[in-house]
Amino acid sequence: MKRIAILGSTGSIGVNALNVIREFKDQFSVYALTVNSKIDLLEEQINEFHPKVVVVRDEKKAVELKSRIGNKCEVLSGDKGLIEAASSDDYDILLTALVGFAGLAPTIEGIKKRKRIALANKETLVVAGELIINLCKEYQTELIPVDSEHSAIFQVLVGENQTEINKLILTASGGPFRELSKNELMNVTIEQALKHPNWSMGSKITIDSASMMNKGLEVIEAHWLFNLPKEKIEVIVHPQSIIHSMVEFVDGSIKAQLSLPDMKLPIQYSFTYPQRFKSSYEETNFAKLRNLTFYEPDLDKFECLKLAYDVMESGGTAPCILNAANEIAVESFLNRKIKFTQISDTIKLALDKIENHKAPNMETIFECDRQTREFLYSNI
Ligand code: NDP
Ligand code: MG
Repeated sequence: MKRIAILGSTGSIGVNALNVIREFKDQFSVYALTVNSKIDLLEEQINEFHPKVVVVRDEKKAVELKSRIGNKCEVLSGDKGLIEAASSDDYDILLTALVGFAGLAPTIEGIKKRKRIALANKETLVVAGELIINLCKEYQTELIPVDSEHSAIFQVLVGENQTEINKLILTASGGPFRELSKNELMNVTIEQALKHPNWSMGSKITIDSASMMNKGLEVIEAHWLFNLPKEKIEVIVHPQSIIHSMVEFVDGSIKAQLSLPDMKLPIQYSFTYPQRFKSSYEETNFAKLRNLTFYEPDLDKFECLKLAYDVMESGGTAPCILNAANEIAVESFLNRKIKFTQISDTIKLALDKIENHKAPNMETIFECDRQTREFLYSNI
């Protein structure tokens, strides 16, 4: 029986992970569940999955939950609570399904405790990829991607030799604005941006998908996970989201991983790897699908994707600045403070004004994130 700690259990990935656990009750149990503030759903999850520990980041909500559930489980709170839960000895797999930079600190704890890290929180690798990969090597910790593209590549590479990879081909749905012109993008609404054609996800990643920043973050994530330069990581728009990504090898052979879009599959694989468990997900029917189509991404229209390639070139803390600025810009767009096209303007402003520290350590990364947020809060 594998004991699982889910950081962000009330989110889209968290809820899907609990669906997987429910399906394989005799294989997995829940050690910890953590949320920001949604205690009603957390309470339901506690009653069904009986975790030993829960963390509610919002202190007041934590007190409220405690008064409701008595001693059904331990209730921790704040960022300190997240660290405490992640650094426990009493579990096996840490699923990092909270959103944004907040995922970094508890992931570090999980790595140091040599837990299998099922990584959904791509921001961790975007802001501190080199340090995280080195830490995993130092502690001999397994890092298994949950992001569907990276899970696809990870699955394709089983039994292959890393040195024989020619390139990675990351697929992108293209989001809801694939067919709009650059001008039309200026006036898109929040409601339009939140309507992803193929996936139902949290609001931050849905906006990232609409701006294609999500694919930019994923290129950086792939660079660190698979140890390949940006020249060997290609993006191709594939609106059906059936091919989750591909690897081309030096002999010209290309391997892909395919399925209907369902995050339960990569989540499950991150728990069961190197095994596969028989599942009851909907089968892929090619005759019904008929068409799989592909387009080159438009980097002029989707500037965020280009910015992500640029910060990989700059290195140092540039990806951390890009990530923090993107988080602030997405929040500002969702609060109707800026337009959709100003997301990339905000990132460019931060990259221009905040100093890039080369060869950062973890402290530098946390400081860079803080500094970027502080700068943008007083400048947008
Ligand atoms: P959601 O917004 O749906 O869920 C986020 C979860 O994290 C919620 O449980 C939320 O709690 C909690 N949370 C939010 N902010 C904080 C914080 N500052 N501290 C602690 N907990 C917090 O996100 P998703 O599930 O969509 O995404 C999670 C991560 O997985 C992201 O990094 C995303 O990029 C990645 N990912 C997601 C995919 C998807 O299909 N959704 C696909 C691939 C990657 P509360 O509910 O209380 O607010
Ligand atoms: Mg993805």
